[in-house]
Amino acid sequence: MKKVLLLGTGGTIASEVTGSGLIPVLTPDELARCVPGLDGLCEVTCRQLFSIDSTNIIPAHWLMIANAIREEYAQYDGFVIAHGTDTMAYTAAALSYLIQGSPKPIVLTGAQKPIVFEDTDSRTNLADAFRCAVSDLGGVVIVFNGRIILGTRARKTRTTSFQAFSSINYPLLGVVQNGRLLEYIRPEAAEQPLFYDKLNPNVGLLKLIPGTDCGLLSYLLEQKDAVIIESYGVGGLPSYKGSGFFEVLRQAVQEKEKTVVMTTQVQNEGSNLAVYDVGFHLKQDLELLEAYDMTTEAVAAKLMWILGQTGNPDAIRTLFYRPIAHDILSPEG
Ligand code: ASP
Repeated sequence: MKKVLLLGTGGTIASEVTGSGLIPVLTPDELARCVPGLDGLCEVTCRQLFSIDSTNIIPAHWLMIANAIREEYAQYDGFVIAHGTDTMAYTAAALSYLIQGSPKPIVLTGAQKPIVFEDTDSRTNLADAFRCAVSDLGGVVIVFNGRIILGTRARKTRTTSFQAFSSINYPLLGVVQNGRLLEYIRPEAAEQPLFYDKLNPNVGLLKLIPGTDCGLLSYLLEQKDAVIIESYGVGGLPSYKGSGFFEVLRQAVQEKEKTVVMTTQVQNEGSNLAVYDVGFHLKQDLELLEAYDMTTEAVAAKLMWILGQTGNPDAIRTLFYRPIAHDILSPEG
């Protein structure tokens, strides 16, 4: 029988009602006991890594999860991580960079309603996650509401209903229906996974609204090694006289070797800075990086992973555009 390691990290799935709202308290052993049909499917070992609302996740937690999987990798056929939904997409992206090419499934799941509730999605999500964890599917995925989403492509798109996650700019890898796995796509895996153990969390994000002061960007660039700018449409920055963005960026990129990635607030279809004059010069003259079809979650995690390895602008550019776990489809090469 296959062996699966269940890692507990907290989240709604493990929560109970308190006077101040839901708090994660259940252990992974308690979660596993609630999953129907688990005994006949696999041998489960449980380990609690931490027990937090995933709003409290920081990159150090991602390193803890990756490290736990690295330590136990040879002993198990698959891994299930029970996690809060709020930042699960970030964790999935981070694990996709920290553990590359895994031939064994690394499955994140959680729930919109605690496992102790009668009308919960927890039991089905966990059962589906275990179903995937005993399959031949490799890599990091989120299994939620019967859908299998690539770790670099997931985003939480609903706050309360069971269909909490979407796959952005990439098809679903498959579905689990009534306990049966229907695989559409299998991401290729290596013979052995490549583990990384360094991240540089000093990455910031600026979401533009009309009228955003370039001083805000300037401040972020002073504080951070890399800044992601979520602009509009296919991408661009205000260029009216006195807006100041271009000069702030020129100094940061050319004089201080800061990393800047342009992306878009629009969820689907990605950026293309070359289309409009407001983006063209950022690309042509400042050589800013752009996210194309990557999610902001993946861009943030990828930058932390890249900057954990190098500060060299050419190496950063090369690594940023190198597709990892199908995170980007339109690289510049
Ligand atoms: N706030 C919770 C968390 O992310 C939400 C959830 O798990 O659904 O931990």
